[in-house]
Amino acid sequence: MQAIRIVRGYLGGLSRAEAGQLKKRIKPYILFRGEVAAFQELHFSDICTEKCFAGKTSACCGREGIATFFADVVINLLLSSDDEVDALEQTLSNDRGGFKCVYLSETGCLWRLKPVVCEMFLCDFAKESVLGKNDVLRSQWEKLRRREKRYTWPDRPVLFDMLEEVFFRAGYDSPIMYFHHSPGLLRLKSRAQKTRLSFTPEE
Ligand code: SF4
Ligand code: SF4
Repeated sequence: MQAIRIVRGYLGGLSRAEAGQLKKRIKPYILFRGEVAAFQELHFSDICTEKCFAGKTSACCGREGIATFFADVVINLLLSSDDEVDALEQTLSNDRGGFKCVYLSETGCLWRLKPVVCEMFLCDFAKESVLGKNDVLRSQWEKLRRREKRYTWPDRPVLFDMLEEVFFRAGYDSPIMYFHHSPGLLRLKSRAQKTRLSFTPEE
């Protein structure tokens, strides 16, 4: 993926302090992701193991299902070692197609922190089995989904847009910079900006 090369090159040119600033910006998101992972582990690992992992039939990691934001790549590379990024690049260059996601290895996902869409995905079967009759769990899951939007849904300034902006301003471009190319997201950003401006108190 071209985005991995762009991000790797850019991050490799940053000073320790500059990289440290970016790592600081992503910290609340990383903590959030830890909470989602803990929730999934606690409530879904049994059912996912039984339904999918034991039979190696998981519908979670199909090639069609993966949607990656540019910021997912930035965050993952900020957290990854050189060896881990080498493994991603190697896998991509050896990709021969197929129905599984290119990043799915024998030992699981090759990303240090998988894309947010992957993390937040639950199939209908898992949702119905675990959340269907449990109002408390369902409300906890919905709360996590709302919190996810605070990082990814640009009806306000959000981390995922901000990270993309860093690279966009530095002259880089990628088809997965959705916050700068998707007409829907651009419309949403522009509406939100107008609303914020109209609420700015006069001096
Ligand atoms: S969420 Fe659904 S498809 Fe994915 S591993 Fe769990 S049971 Fe399987
Ligand atoms: S990136 Fe990882 S978690 Fe997401 S679909 Fe691919 S292997 Fe699965």
